[in-house]
Amino acid sequence: MIVGQVIELKANNKFFTYCRKAFGVRRFAYNWCVAKFKKDYVAHLAAMDRYTRELAEYQKSPLQSTVAPVKPKLPTWQDYKKEFNAIRLEKYPFTYEVTKYASQQTFVNFGTSVKSYFENVKKRKKTKVKKNSKKRKAFFPKFKKKSYQHGSFYIGGDQVKLVTGKSCSKKLENQSSKQYMNIPNFGYVQLKEKLRFNGHINGVTISQRADRIYASFSIEITEEEYCRTHKAAVQNNTAAGIDLGLKSALMLSDGISIESPKPLKAKLRRLARLQRQLNRKQHPRAKGDKTKLSRNYIKHSRKVSKLYLSISNIRKDFSQKITSILANHYEYLCMEDLNVKGMMSNHKLARAISDVGFYNIKNNLIYKMEYKHRKLQEVDRFYASSKTCSKCGALKKDLTLRDRIYECPECGLTIDRDLNAAINLRQQIKNVGEAISELMPVELTALLSDLAINGIATSSVEAGIW
Ligand SMILES: [Zn+2]
Repeated sequence: MIVGQVIELKANNKFFTYCRKAFGVRRFAYNWCVAKFKKDYVAHLAAMDRYTRELAEYQKSPLQSTVAPVKPKLPTWQDYKKEFNAIRLEKYPFTYEVTKYASQQTFVNFGTSVKSYFENVKKRKKTKVKKNSKKRKAFFPKFKKKSYQHGSFYIGGDQVKLVTGKSCSKKLENQSSKQYMNIPNFGYVQLKEKLRFNGHINGVTISQRADRIYASFSIEITEEEYCRTHKAAVQNNTAAGIDLGLKSALMLSDGISIESPKPLKAKLRRLARLQRQLNRKQHPRAKGDKTKLSRNYIKHSRKVSKLYLSISNIRKDFSQKITSILANHYEYLCMEDLNVKGMMSNHKLARAISDVGFYNIKNNLIYKMEYKHRKLQEVDRFYASSKTCSKCGALKKDLTLRDRIYECPECGLTIDRDLNAAINLRQQIKNVGEAISELMPVELTALLSDLAINGIATSSVEAGIW
């Protein structure tokens, strides 16, 4: 199984310069591909036109003497890579100043974006989307812009070397406990944490976010190593339904309401203010605008991205912690198959959803449950989990988003709206051999204390009048 770990690097100015250079090389190679592809694609379309005409003529009267026309082929990313490397030494010697992967991996990335472009075009044709509709827009590979705050490049596993202090250089001999990573054509850079896993390193992506440089490792580990590095999961045959709510971040069918992290709200307000201020600084506002990008704009955008980084870190932390805890305490989980994009189009919901990062929570839960050999079930997004009564199954059609309490007209059940949905979701867990049970009081206490240790705020909701 593959696990990841992101570690901040201790970057000095020299290393920053190296990284900026590597980002630049990557961007250069990518844009080189895009420019070439734009021309090739136009030529290819013309060639295809010619080919269909010639083929039709040939099929009408296939003479023995004429040869069947050959179908033209669009160059692939492998062709581009070959062509680039043939002229690389002579024309682009600066690409040799950084790791080879900075330019070479780009061709693979470019290949992926071309592939997804053609796939989207096909899908559009199949579903007969109107020409200018935003739905399933097929994105033709675009030129990449230079950014002061972001950038990344990849280093393949074969070039990654980790050493612990002592052996790497004389200068560092005293700091023997620290771990260092070898950066090709640069030297050793200190990791701010140690790599937790023993296994084969598939590759590392070095990326800049605001004023920090991170290395994100992708490591192939054995099941044994996974068990060694992860907390053992509780085996108790329990199940829960999770409702991703708006009032609280998550609601469990056991009546535990999990709040989203508090600092988020204040920071988001600050972010909005900073972004307004940024917009008032002098900068080109549209393509082709000749206004100069001011120093103040760059300086201020640094502030914005720093704050943004901190927000995204809070979100990630919350999402990782909560999903680990849930996967540890429940054997079966059930949640709605979220149509996050659809929900995002509803403005009021959009803020609440993006605040907590539902998308992240779901993705983390999927792989964590799988790694622990547990089952996560998703319920069809059209299942009315909120509108159905969890006691008698009656459907309340006129329930609006504003109704926080669910009152059943049939059986008189009065219950918190989100809890009602969570219980419904729990009841949707099917095809389980053994009977599933609710958390025992002891287990509930264990779960609550686990949440408390990780600094996740909870409140319990009364199960209502049954
Ligand atoms: Zn009812």
